[in-house]
Amino acid sequence: MDMAESDIDMAIVGAGAAGIAAARRVVAAGKSCILLEARKRAGGRAWTVHAPDGSVIDLGAAWMHSAEQNPMVPLARSVGSPISTRNQDDWPKRLRLSGLSPSEIADFSQAQDAYLARVDAAAQLSEDRPIAACLDTGSRWNPLLSAMTTWNTGSSPDKVSTTARRYRSYTGTNWRPEHGYGHLLEQLAGGLPIAFGAPVTMIDWSGQSVRVTAGDMTLRASCVILTVPPSVLAAEAVTFFPKLPAAKVTAIEELPLGVNNKIYFHLPETIDGLPDDTHFVGSLTNSATGSYQIRPMGRPLLEMFLGDAIARTLESEGAAAMADFAGSEIRQVFGSGAVKPLAPVAASGWLNDPYSRGGYSYAMPGRAEQRDVLAAPVGERLFFAGEACSKNWHSTVHGAWTTGEKAAAAALAHLDEGSLR
Ligand SMILES: Cc1cc2nc3c(=O)[nH]c(=O)nc-3n(C[C@H](O)[C@H](O)[C@H](O)COP(=O)(O)OP(=O)(O)OC[C@H]3O[C@@H](n4cnc5c(N)ncnc54)[C@H](O)[C@@H]3O)c2cc1C
Repeated sequence: MDMAESDIDMAIVGAGAAGIAAARRVVAAGKSCILLEARKRAGGRAWTVHAPDGSVIDLGAAWMHSAEQNPMVPLARSVGSPISTRNQDDWPKRLRLSGLSPSEIADFSQAQDAYLARVDAAAQLSEDRPIAACLDTGSRWNPLLSAMTTWNTGSSPDKVSTTARRYRSYTGTNWRPEHGYGHLLEQLAGGLPIAFGAPVTMIDWSGQSVRVTAGDMTLRASCVILTVPPSVLAAEAVTFFPKLPAAKVTAIEELPLGVNNKIYFHLPETIDGLPDDTHFVGSLTNSATGSYQIRPMGRPLLEMFLGDAIARTLESEGAAAMADFAGSEIRQVFGSGAVKPLAPVAASGWLNDPYSRGGYSYAMPGRAEQRDVLAAPVGERLFFAGEACSKNWHSTVHGAWTTGEKAAAAALAHLDEGSLR
């Protein structure tokens, strides 16, 4: 289809949280737009699937972090989507369930507080060191503190900026959309003009308007809002003519996506008498370990959450290797008879998915400011959004959402200026 002469105000590339937010803003302003989405579904890295028994599974985002401030909470309420307000377990509880004694937990809490104080102090310095520099050499808790970095960033402490924490905002209150975060985004995308199965491969911004090629469709828009992850742009899945400015290309490269994956197993009965909806850690001595959640929201499932190298390895090895890994970690924590062989129900593979190429973005040391460069418009007609553009709420749905709204507001202001000229 050739829509070369079409007169659309905005083409929005990607129907994840950022793209949906942008499109809602543009439609509400009475402008025309189309969301061009490579996949056959909306939601991007928020993806809800169902187990054979109907249990809700979020293979990507699940938690509404910083719930008191999270704009997705009122949005969920506006569409009647129920929210579980049960918070994630705190670390002392997780460690108790993982087999530590009260004195060991107190020792860990002290070490963690000291580590976080060092990180916060280092985040204020002009020199940006890897977060690993804040670990206390020789501490027995370093593997666990490092594992937390792998879950939070998808990368390892030696690769992650400390300065990034200067901007990060997190209240510690985490809620969940009961029907799934992906499902919520699909609800919020309802009624928007979306072309599915339309991977954008070419953006020609050499003229006054922008020519966009998506699958067998070509269209011309006054502005484009790009929300694809930086990893997808770094892989040159989209060709730009003319090329993007060098500073933008550098920002794309310096905000890579870490690797995070989730694997769900069928768990009809709890482990070791533990209550539903509780967390434990697979290993306290190895940073390549899983964070587990037993029967989330009472559903007959066990979730294993992985980051960095072990997530990468098990994604390439497949579901049987994931089950072996989880089984051996669980036996080490709870004993050999703790759990029957685990049957995988669903697993993510975000690294090898060509439309994500990873879990969520992290800033390399010295590169925390690049989020501003990534978010900056180019040539007054290319606007950028997505979680990687958010300095305070990166790696989250609400961060992506707010950048989408911001990019749409900037693009709309540009359109209005143009119409006044
Ligand atoms: C395992 C995991 C767990 C997570 N847990 C949480 C959590 O609990 N809470 C939380 O808030 N966040 C969580 N996140 C992060 C959250 O999912 C993301 O930050 C957020 O969904 C990103 O939204 P986005 O719009 O920036 O990008 P995406 O959701 O990636 O949207 C981009 C869209 O662009 C599309 N696209 C890509 N290339 C093209 C192309 N060439 N043409 C057209 N379309 C294209 C993609 O298909 C996608 O739909 C998690 C992520 C992962 C991977």
